[in-house]
Amino acid sequence: MTTAQLIDGKAIAKAKRTEMKTVVAQMKAEGTVPGLAVVLVGENPASMSYVKGKIRDCKEVGIYSELIRFPVSVSEPELLEKIGELNERDDIHGILVQLPLPKQISERKVIQTISPEKDVDGFHPISLGRLMTKQDGFVPCTPAGIMDMLKAVHVSIAGKHVVIVGRSNIVGKPASQLFLNHDATVTICHSRTTPLAHYTKQADILVVAVGRAGLIGAEDIKPGAVVIDVGMNRNKNGKLVGDVEFEEVGEKASFITPVPGGVGPMTRVMLLENTIKAAKIRNRGRKINAQ
Ligand code: NDP
Repeated sequence: MTTAQLIDGKAIAKAKRTEMKTVVAQMKAEGTVPGLAVVLVGENPASMSYVKGKIRDCKEVGIYSELIRFPVSVSEPELLEKIGELNERDDIHGILVQLPLPKQISERKVIQTISPEKDVDGFHPISLGRLMTKQDGFVPCTPAGIMDMLKAVHVSIAGKHVVIVGRSNIVGKPASQLFLNHDATVTICHSRTTPLAHYTKQADILVVAVGRAGLIGAEDIKPGAVVIDVGMNRNKNGKLVGDVEFEEVGEKASFITPVPGGVGPMTRVMLLENTIKAAKIRNRGRKINAQ
């Protein structure tokens, strides 16, 4: 039986969407409809399902969304040209290119072609540089969602030892920087960290973003730790599970996120938040230019 308090990402995200509806309605009344372009290449079922979810979320809160689809054979110049067009459009405030992309296309080039002012995924080097230098900008959705979850359950971060397992550009690295910006002491672990448990057991807050079911068990955590499970894996029965043994870790932790229903819905909702932010920034720029 899980004794830890569940951090219900699904409920927190729902409450955020409800608040966003009001914000978007207000923006509409003032003449701006936040707009998101979602670019999908090919027919990868997981990507198609993510994109569908993102479009549905936009609809729910009143954000305009446009799905732009390309066949898997699309050339890199063709895709970059489309991004260039979207960069120029006034009705599109955020651009998201669903990853992964087919191998003839450089993800790096695609990310760097998106205007940093429309980089709602927060993957552009300028966004990551802003995060690193503690400037306002777009923070990648998963780390931003983790922060919001912790805030929602009043877990303080300053002075805590945060251990992050995973160092990807989209989760581990930006999460570590974000925690550092919030005055945590941060340890980053990866596939060459040995022994992993030596580090994870020291965590007041443990973030696991690896993609390996069962990586973290009860013996790997400190009693009372806050455990954030980013991992998404299919077990042998096809069920979605995280990287953390939920039941046993839940008996030792103080807070834990479930999979599904934890970090996933928060990641989705932060895309909406970034799109609204992009539209607000654009408006502010217009007003300043008009003065
Ligand atoms: P990546 O594959 O890009 O990175 C995985 C990281 O885990 C790497 O840094 C790797 O180390 C490290 N790693 C691999 N094996 C071990 C190990 N045995 N011990 C310690 N570290 C290890 O994955 P992502 O960051 O993109 O995603 C991680 C997981 O989170 C996946 O399951 C993904 O599906 C999920 N995810 C969930 C999201 C959500 O919204 N819930 C959003 C994004 C991702 P090294 O660098 O040395 O190779």
